[in-house]
Amino acid sequence: MENQDLIEAARCGLAWVEFEREKRKRNETFHRLLETMCGDVIASEGHDYSFTIKQLINDIAALESGSSAKKVFGIFDQKLEMHIESIREFAVDNDYEFIPAIDMDKTGKANVAVFDARTTPKKGIISATQVPAGAIRYTFDEKHRLWRLFGFISGMPLRPVPLLIIALVILLFGLAYMALIAIFLMTVLMQPNVVNLLGLVASLFVGYLLFRRIRAYDRFTTTRIALAHDALASFSAPQAVVVMKLNGDAAPTLEVISASAQCPVCEGEVRLRKPNFSCSHEVIGACRNNPTEHCFTFDHTTRLGWPITETTRRHLEKIQYSGCGVIK
Ligand SMILES: [Zn+2]
Repeated sequence: MENQDLIEAARCGLAWVEFEREKRKRNETFHRLLETMCGDVIASEGHDYSFTIKQLINDIAALESGSSAKKVFGIFDQKLEMHIESIREFAVDNDYEFIPAIDMDKTGKANVAVFDARTTPKKGIISATQVPAGAIRYTFDEKHRLWRLFGFISGMPLRPVPLLIIALVILLFGLAYMALIAIFLMTVLMQPNVVNLLGLVASLFVGYLLFRRIRAYDRFTTTRIALAHDALASFSAPQAVVVMKLNGDAAPTLEVISASAQCPVCEGEVRLRKPNFSCSHEVIGACRNNPTEHCFTFDHTTRLGWPITETTRRHLEKIQYSGCGVIK
């Protein structure tokens, strides 16, 4: 990459850190390390672009107490990838042609982060100035923020053979379950007492719960979107959805996306949730301040949402008529 591109990417990184701090109140170790890197790239006019942790934290005392910084630095490329959607959106909104990219070199004694520039991938993001009037735009956020145990779900390809094996296992379980019910039924008929009867009722109930689970998965194959179970994501992460993405001839993949937006009515935070009224939407965005009135659709392909409730629509019309222009 040209020096000029590196500088442009560093400028974008620096401005993004600033934006995160001001607008979204985020200031993690990752942000501080990225800030220092970008600052150094700009100051050296693109000549310094590989960094060790020692270069980033000059003060040795700070380094010794900064074991968390060391940890973050060790996986700096992954951390950047976690924030890539937010950086991408920021670059599209502010016309940055390049965004930061990091390559970790772990061959030497100390880890080295090599700063690089990457052409801003603009696909799928409408810039803030071009969002249609009346619509809201969702910001995709740290999509891999799942518990480590479930991290494999994001990006998992759904290949036919493993799916067949899973279907077979479910079938076998189903048959085994039927056999179990038959045995329970026989015992109840032969020795009708309370314990045997309770056993039968309990196993029928468990079967009903499992059946509901399987139906939910079946539904997912049709709707291709479902709220991620709360147990999957870390507590602080915004509600995530699991989306089945079709990839032409290749196997479809599962994507975990968390998204949030700003409510145009009250400036509250719009988060994803199940609709609390009957409608054809599987997932909607609802404002945390007024989740029953400020509701929006959620389209993960365009990242846009349109008002659902009458209240929201009226409010937005009012805002437009009073000459506030485009709603962001
Ligand atoms: Zn609201």
